[in-house]
Amino acid sequence: MSERRNWQPQPGRRADWPESASRPVATPLQPSVVYAAESPDALDAQYEGRLAGWTYAREGHPNAAQLAGMIDALEGVAGGVMTGSGMAAVGAAMLGLVQAGDHVVGADQLYGRSLRLLAEDLPRLGIATTLADATDAGAIEAALRPETRAILVEVVSNPTIRVADIEGLAALARERGVALVIDNTFTTPRGFRAGEVADVVVHSVTKLLAGHSDATLGWVAARDADTAARIATAVQTWGMTPAPFDCWLAERGLHTFPLRYDRAEATAARLADALARMEGVARVLYPGRAEHPDHARAGRLLQGRFGNMVSFELAGAAAAGAGREAANALVRAMPALPFAPTLGDVGTTLSHPATSSHRGLSAEGRAALGISEGVFRVSVGLEEPDALIAEFEAGVAAARAALR
Ligand SMILES: *Cc1c(COP(=O)(O)O)cnc(C)c1O
Repeated sequence: MSERRNWQPQPGRRADWPESASRPVATPLQPSVVYAAESPDALDAQYEGRLAGWTYAREGHPNAAQLAGMIDALEGVAGGVMTGSGMAAVGAAMLGLVQAGDHVVGADQLYGRSLRLLAEDLPRLGIATTLADATDAGAIEAALRPETRAILVEVVSNPTIRVADIEGLAALARERGVALVIDNTFTTPRGFRAGEVADVVVHSVTKLLAGHSDATLGWVAARDADTAARIATAVQTWGMTPAPFDCWLAERGLHTFPLRYDRAEATAARLADALARMEGVARVLYPGRAEHPDHARAGRLLQGRFGNMVSFELAGAAAAGAGREAANALVRAMPALPFAPTLGDVGTTLSHPATSSHRGLSAEGRAALGISEGVFRVSVGLEEPDALIAEFEAGVAAARAALR
C-alpha cells in the first residue's frame, strides 16, 4: 500500500499525495496553479530546460500539454499550444506573426469575431488589414502588399460552405514569403490536414474536437520554431492559457472525436440529399453534392471528407418580408433541436445566420453573400439519421405553410 512521507493533513499544510506503484488509467485532473521546486538549483535547471517541470499554471500545465499533444498528433504537427478559446488561438497567432506597420489579408467570410479582429482590433494596433475572397487565390494575391505578413483563411466558410482555394493560397504564400494561417475548425484534421500546408494552424477546440458544448478552448501551432516560440510567449504574457478542467473535459471528448466525426459526416451527407428532395427547399449547400460551386475542389482538397456542416435555403423566403415568418415557423416546428449558434456538439444544432453570425451586416451585405432570411446552417450531430430527416421534413413543411 501507499506510504506517505509527509502526512500532516491540516489547514495550510498539504500532505504528500499517496504513492502508488500502479498508475491511473484515466488522465488525472491537475488544477494546481503553482508547483513547488525541490531547490533553487532545481528551479534553475527547470527554467533552463535541463529538468522537466511546471512552475505556474498560466505558463503551462499538464492537462493543457496532454491535450495539445493529442491534437498535434491529429494534425501531424509538433509543439501546439492550448488556449482559453478559439479566438484566443486566432489572437495568439496574430500576436506571434505581426507587429505595428505590418499588413494582414483575411478571407471575407471568416468567423464573425475573426472578421472583427481584422476589421477593428488589429487596425487599432497599427496593423492594416484587407479582406478578400479566399475561393479565388487571385483575389487574395491582389490584396497583398509589400508589408503583408499573414493570410488568414478558413477551409470551409460559414454559412455558405464555400471551399477556399487552399492549393492556390499555399503556393502564393510560399512564393511571396507570407505566413498562411488556416483556421481548421470546420474541417477538423479528419477532414483536412491543415498542418501539411499551413504555416500556422488554429482550432476552436470548443467545437468538434471537444464536441460536447461544455468546454471553451483553442489550439494553435506554427511550423517555424521562432514563430511558435513567439505564439507560446504571447499565450503566457496575454494570459490566454486555458483552465485544466476544460482541457481534461476536452481530452475526454477528443478520444471519441474520430467516431463522432465519421458518424456526423455520414448523416450530414444523407440529410443534404434529403433536404435537396424536399419541396420548400430552394438550395442545399454541401460540398459533397455535385451542384455545389466548389464540389470539384472539395473532392481534391478534402478527399471525400465533406464534413458535418450543411446549409440550406427555404424556397420563396428570399423575398422581402416573407422570410422571417418562414424561418420562425421552421424553428418552432423543430422544438427538440437546439436553435443555437454553435457547431460540433454531439447533438444537431440549427443556426440562422441572418439573426446571429451575420446580423451585423446590412440586408444588402447579407444578400451579396447569399444569406437571406431563409438560410439555415445545420451542424449535424449523432442522432438517428431517419429521425433527424423526419424532423427537418416537419420543419420545412411548417415553413412552406407559413409562406402560403
Ligand atoms: C467558434 C469558432 C471560432 C472561435 O472559437 P471560440 O472557441 O468560440 O472562441 C473561430 N473560428 C471558427 C471557424 C469557429 O467556428
